[in-house]
Amino acid sequence: MVRSVVIVGGGTAGWMSAAYLKTTFGDRVSVTVVESDRIPTIGVGEATFATIRLFFEYLGLDEPEWMPECSASYKLAIRFENWREPGHHFYHPFEWFRTANGFNLADWWLQLGDRSTGFDQNCFITTALCEHMRSPRMFDGSTSSSNRDGSPGRPTPLERPSPYYYAYHFDAARLALFLTKFATQRGVRHVVDDVLQVRQDERGWITHVTTREHGDVTGDLFIDCTGFRGMLINQTLGERFTSFEDVLPNNRAVALRVPRDMARLGIKPYTTATAMDAGWIWTIPLYGRVGTGYVYSDQFCSPEEAERTLRRFAAPDQEDLEANHIRMRVGRNERSWVNNCVAIGLSSAFVEPLESTGIFFIQHGIEQLVKNFPDADWDPRLRDNYNTRINRAIEGVKEFLVLHYRAAKRDDTAYWKEAKIRKVPPGLEERLDMAMTRLPSEENIYQHYHGFDMDSWNTMLLGLGWEPGRPKPALAHIDPMQAQAQFGRLRAEAKELVATLPSAYEYLHSIN
Ligand SMILES: Cc1cc2nc3c(=O)[nH]c(=O)nc-3n(C[C@H](O)[C@H](O)[C@H](O)COP(=O)(O)OP(=O)(O)OC[C@H]3O[C@@H](n4cnc5c(N)ncnc54)[C@H](O)[C@@H]3O)c2cc1C
Repeated sequence: MVRSVVIVGGGTAGWMSAAYLKTTFGDRVSVTVVESDRIPTIGVGEATFATIRLFFEYLGLDEPEWMPECSASYKLAIRFENWREPGHHFYHPFEWFRTANGFNLADWWLQLGDRSTGFDQNCFITTALCEHMRSPRMFDGSTSSSNRDGSPGRPTPLERPSPYYYAYHFDAARLALFLTKFATQRGVRHVVDDVLQVRQDERGWITHVTTREHGDVTGDLFIDCTGFRGMLINQTLGERFTSFEDVLPNNRAVALRVPRDMARLGIKPYTTATAMDAGWIWTIPLYGRVGTGYVYSDQFCSPEEAERTLRRFAAPDQEDLEANHIRMRVGRNERSWVNNCVAIGLSSAFVEPLESTGIFFIQHGIEQLVKNFPDADWDPRLRDNYNTRINRAIEGVKEFLVLHYRAAKRDDTAYWKEAKIRKVPPGLEERLDMAMTRLPSEENIYQHYHGFDMDSWNTMLLGLGWEPGRPKPALAHIDPMQAQAQFGRLRAEAKELVATLPSAYEYLHSIN
């Protein structure tokens, strides 16, 4: 039986894993987190993916219990700025496309749409909520628009198409502290110490880790959450790490934490990704400050130039803010589970944070670990199944991110020009080629679970400017009445929600 799990590392990956395992197994499995107080966490990773809501729900936590503790705010979408040309923007929301006569509204927009406004304004309600900085919740915490007499109204239209139509932004350090408290109160043992050595038996399986002051910590299963260093999986077990820099060349980032007067300026309920000369800048509005960072390739920009650009962009008058320079290890382990060691978080894989997938990979890794949890015989099929699922998800996200660069119209600097001729993962060229003639459906996007569906692929293609030359021919032979009614309903619902929902700042202020 596997009765004890040792997690090395206390960043977002370590504490999310500990909290999830404790919630799942209670006292039947002991969980220890060994975390160094000398080696800092990565200090970024503050925008999430919509499935994160399931994580907090699984822990039994309501938003008002944890959000104020983590300076959290809502994320309804990613706003892409300047990816097509300067001044252009579009939203990639968590909302799904509605359909009419079996075709989604993206297809119908190509046939009927008002080209004077973006497809995202016509096809999604979220666009209006973002532009008006609305909260996804009413003051009473419901996601319904209440009737005037106070009785619950109908669910917001956002809830109907997509089950998870928003995610969160949070302060990574405060989240780790919150989860530390959550997990230790439920019985997770917390050892604050440096792991000096990882010991193996003659088969190469890990038996224990040796710490500086707390002696040996033994366990049956070891989870490597040591970040980019991969102390267990790479340094000890020697698992091969494959770099993705040939297709995703951004290998550095510089980040700043910028205070913001929210009461005056409000809180934008979305992440912004602004294309720059040699990469892009993220802007993540938290409750009380903004997290921002420039992700770039050092082939095209020096760290000094990146820092100067970021400061000019995000905090021109605040020279005292400390910059966090990060070298990114972009790629994945051949296997994230080797012998009795599972790597979760940055030690397993990382693609650049353009679609906020780092924490999604962590959640996916833990969920898959529980589904494939080993028994005394360590059936290798469980491990192989785990590795297959993890690798497929990472490869899918990699392909989806490469699409962002290849499909973006922008080509005004050496960096953007190079993005157009760079190698792409197998299969993507064909998919992009097909997308020149028609928008993809579920059958012709990357075929394995990777968190993104046809709606996301269509949104990015239309937003970035990789539009099919013409609508699907069938639509010319279908009465457009239903589609026109859908566009009309969507406009009306967006207007009503903008009028009834509080602003993101007002709502968050009410729970803080
Ligand atoms: C620039 C950048 C931006 C990102 N943005 C996003 C985003 O917006 N959204 C998102 O989902 N993800 C994002 N990510 C990814 C996200 O930051 C990580 O997935 C997440 O923070 C998990 O990190 P980690 O816990 O694996 O590693 P780390 O935070 O590096 O933690 C490593 C832990 O291991 C401990 N440790 C290391 N060695 C030892 C030792 N010898 N003994 C004891 N302890 C040890 C350290 O003390 C630390 O506690 C981003 C990543 C980068 C690089």
